[in-house]
Amino acid sequence: MRIRLFIVLVCALGLSSAAQSQALLPDQWCGNTGKSAWLDWYQANKDLIVDQRGVDTSWLYVPMTIHIVGDNSGNGYYPFDYAARAVCEMNDLYHDAHIRFYLVPGDPVRYLNNSSWYKHQYNQGGQMINQNKLPNRLNAFVVEDPAGNCGYAWKDAIVLGKGCSGSGNITWSHEAGHHLSLPHTFLGWEGESWDFSQPAPATIGNGDYPVEMVNGDNCYFSGDGFCDTKPDYLSNRWFCNNNLESNIKQRDPEGIEFRSDATLIMSYASDECSSRFSPEQIEAMRANLYDEHIEYISQPAPFTELDDDLSTTLISPVDSQYVQYNDVTLNWNLVPGASYYVVEVSPVASFSPRVYYQTFFGPVTSTTVTKGLLNNWTMYWRVRAYNEWDICQPYDNAQVGIFKTKNLTSTNNLERVATAELTPNPVAGGTPAVLTVSSDESMDIALQISDAAGRMVFTQHYRLSGGENRLEIPTDGMSAGFYILNLYNEKGAFLKRLVVTE
Ligand SMILES: [Zn+2]
Repeated sequence: MRIRLFIVLVCALGLSSAAQSQALLPDQWCGNTGKSAWLDWYQANKDLIVDQRGVDTSWLYVPMTIHIVGDNSGNGYYPFDYAARAVCEMNDLYHDAHIRFYLVPGDPVRYLNNSSWYKHQYNQGGQMINQNKLPNRLNAFVVEDPAGNCGYAWKDAIVLGKGCSGSGNITWSHEAGHHLSLPHTFLGWEGESWDFSQPAPATIGNGDYPVEMVNGDNCYFSGDGFCDTKPDYLSNRWFCNNNLESNIKQRDPEGIEFRSDATLIMSYASDECSSRFSPEQIEAMRANLYDEHIEYISQPAPFTELDDDLSTTLISPVDSQYVQYNDVTLNWNLVPGASYYVVEVSPVASFSPRVYYQTFFGPVTSTTVTKGLLNNWTMYWRVRAYNEWDICQPYDNAQVGIFKTKNLTSTNNLERVATAELTPNPVAGGTPAVLTVSSDESMDIALQISDAAGRMVFTQHYRLSGGENRLEIPTDGMSAGFYILNLYNEKGAFLKRLVVTE
């Protein structure tokens, strides 16, 4: 007989007290306590379940939709590409479990504007989840403040704080572990304080939880109920030593000394220490997917891999071209198989910080940036292509475009000392055009010509003398169309439009 238990709110037990006390615990990490009825059942019947199901190492695929929450005005959204990176890094940590997360094709992200969800207590968090949770997928909500925690798993969803979702954070993996039934390795010790120089009591949590022994005697009914996770009584965040164990020594009820295992994601060791689930934890998560989330793993996953050597080709602006600092149109090529593009602009080649970023869904190949770029600056930009399946695309080979910003439209001093006239215009392709520049003084000047798509087609430096200067512009190789001539130096610029005919 197959016993099917209704899902239990993972942290319902600790909720009321946690909700009252969480404001007093600024270093609180995860809002979960307790153990689900499903896990109790599973741990009691594990051997039977394995007998029936056999050893299964097939890959299990979990669809997700990310809900990015802003305030009432839509401010404060966590960047979608950072959230996708968190899912990508989660996939690294779930690799040994043969569990892979992907984004629901066509429904990877939703945006919610609600200040009382953006920074919330548990009751508003519950409301946020209930009103927005979508069926047949893992729902992840990214907010500014998830009830004073880094994150929590509740009501069949996970809720993550922006500040705990960066690269190298394990919050998403930890909360997904709760979602898939795992308790903390220190189950029962949440909110408890103890003098660890003393032997631990036989039970903890108002007597609800037997305390786990170092010799493993009671490992199946104490702590998290897994025998391959050692005793751990540390319910505040802690740092690890070089052996990836706690600096704090603890004593079990028999007085035997031990240190906690920092490698376990379900512990409270700091993020850089933790990287794994134990084999028994992995078995439980997989069994939980089969029992409580069959709707996740029975869906066909999209399986559209992008080439790892992929680089989105940038069209313009590139090659240090001058552009108007508050009106820059970025153009790139479509990538086969991609369904979204992450565009970034930064004043530094490392792209940190970035002054502009945006994710575009669908076959988008250009965007115009009117805010945020610095004037008189060299800027770097790149475009990374992904799809809902292949969210972990490396971008070591991403092409980086460079452009220089200027205020080309300001009253410029060049006009005070020089005039420029372009003839003939239109000009027949193959016939040179002439830019006649009359200058009051001698000076250096540069000429850049770009086509209508912004591609640079000609660049040249000149030394002007006082009086009339004739700059010949060859049009060989220019196809018919519009071209922009930008004649500039430190004093300012002339912009001219040239029409080349057949
Ligand atoms: Zn937790």
